[in-house]
Amino acid sequence: MTRREAVKAAEVRLAASGVEEAEITAKYLFYFVTGLGQADLLFDGGLPFQEKQQAYFDKLVEERAKRIPLQYLTGMQEFMGLEFFVTPDVLIPRQDTERLVEEVLSCCSEKSVLDLCTGSGCIIISLAKFGNLTYACGCDLSEGALAVAKKNAKHCGVLVEFLQGDLFEPVNKTFDIIVSNPPYIKSEEIETLMPEVRCHEPRMALDGMADGLYFYKKIIAEASKYLKLGGQLFFEIGSRQAAEVTELLLGGGFGGIKVTKDYAGLDRVISAKKDNQK
Ligand code: GLN
Repeated sequence: MTRREAVKAAEVRLAASGVEEAEITAKYLFYFVTGLGQADLLFDGGLPFQEKQQAYFDKLVEERAKRIPLQYLTGMQEFMGLEFFVTPDVLIPRQDTERLVEEVLSCCSEKSVLDLCTGSGCIIISLAKFGNLTYACGCDLSEGALAVAKKNAKHCGVLVEFLQGDLFEPVNKTFDIIVSNPPYIKSEEIETLMPEVRCHEPRMALDGMADGLYFYKKIIAEASKYLKLGGQLFFEIGSRQAAEVTELLLGGGFGGIKVTKDYAGLDRVISAKKDNQK
């Protein structure tokens, strides 16, 4: 089979399995497997596809046809201009989450930051890279996720302490800033998501229990203990959760609440200050 024929066959296979952007995906996998560029496909598409490479290409196409996210096949995702390793142990970093990082970056210089539910570590590693922090710490319950996060911190050349445990359980310091993009999808809504997310991303990184608010409630209930005077709390939120999370923050003794939208114009980030009276 020629390169062009193989890529065309892959496109047809992917489209038949309901993969969006089948043509771009087929080409992307071709470039990924062969290390070749656009010109090699455009001008030398009639050349034979090297046998071993074709076997690997076909394997990846089959996996993508099973709706495994492309990032788990290539093992990488870009976030905040940095390269992150990803495996099925971690949520694939989302562009929306860059809004959360940008909000924290606007006020974190010379401060200590704790990231709960750190997953791939994309949030705390980006903050450590660009934020001039005094101390960076990331926590997660998942050992598999922490292994990925540690590898990412090394790859990005930053110092982050990673702790394993349930939310604040392994934490014994106070911080200027606590940040989290916790699981916030209502359990019943998970079934309505794309197969890439629903079947392949870690459920524990998605599921916010019946009302989607489980982790906000738990974090808000304990955050004051782990925040310094005047400390700040930052969350990524679901686009319809701003009012509910605002209520939770007010009820938990937080003030100065600010909601920020993502690039699609949807509510995405909420921040609050610890009320020093409480
Ligand atoms: N903090 C990670 C991210 O934003 C993982 C979030 C999660 O597991 N819910 O990508």
